[in-house]
Amino acid sequence: MSQLDDLLRDLVVANRILSNEDVVDAYGHISVRHPDNPKRFFLSRSRAPELVERHDLIEFDQEGEPVSDKRQPYLERFIHAAIFEARPDVMAVVHAHAEDTLPFGIIAKPLEPVIHSGSFIGGKVPVWDIRRKFGETDLLVRNMAQGRDLAKCVGKGNVALMRGHGFASAARSIIEVVRLSIYLPRNARVQMNAMLLGGKGGKPKPLSKGEIAARAAGYKPASTETWRAWEYWANRAGCGDMIGHQHDHAPKK
Ligand code: MN
Repeated sequence: MSQLDDLLRDLVVANRILSNEDVVDAYGHISVRHPDNPKRFFLSRSRAPELVERHDLIEFDQEGEPVSDKRQPYLERFIHAAIFEARPDVMAVVHAHAEDTLPFGIIAKPLEPVIHSGSFIGGKVPVWDIRRKFGETDLLVRNMAQGRDLAKCVGKGNVALMRGHGFASAARSIIEVVRLSIYLPRNARVQMNAMLLGGKGGKPKPLSKGEIAARAAGYKPASTETWRAWEYWANRAGCGDMIGHQHDHAPKK
């Protein structure tokens, strides 16, 4: 199997995982950058992630247009194109509407890491409001100008909330962006519950900068701990037979 075959297989698995973990439903999507052509990326045709198969994946150019494929793409593919354009270090992007993240897009209180597994959010999550620059829209990211404005909000970070809509997350690999996107709503839920529990006088205690840095430093992409989560999520999503073995995923020397 080539590196591209492996990546596209992982992208199918990631679609199923994000659906099974309630990060996406009929809507929401995940993409991966082309390993041999950094100006291209892969994303499913317009289909619910739970149902995505290998032949549903479409190759896109840097402007978010399908490369010789006439099937209907996702309307919001520009989120992916613009983040890949702005961030050469990013290899995979998720856009989703996970409900637990939504309150933090419509109030001043920022979403921030409050649990160890939420550390990869990286810090206070910025909120992108499409209305600020584009006025009254249907809130969907329908072109590159809107995508680029969102990518600017993501900046050098890993994630941005989208006011009244959802979030966009980015990472160095499919596994990392899946993990980030699974723990983002969980972290939001814990933070929300802590805020409710604390009432007016209570303030949740977030992870410190040093703790967030220590977590990031301890993360090993090819470790047994990383594989353990991938294997678990894939099995729960019914595609444990698709993922191969841990040693196949070790970085090629
Ligand atoms: Mn959306």
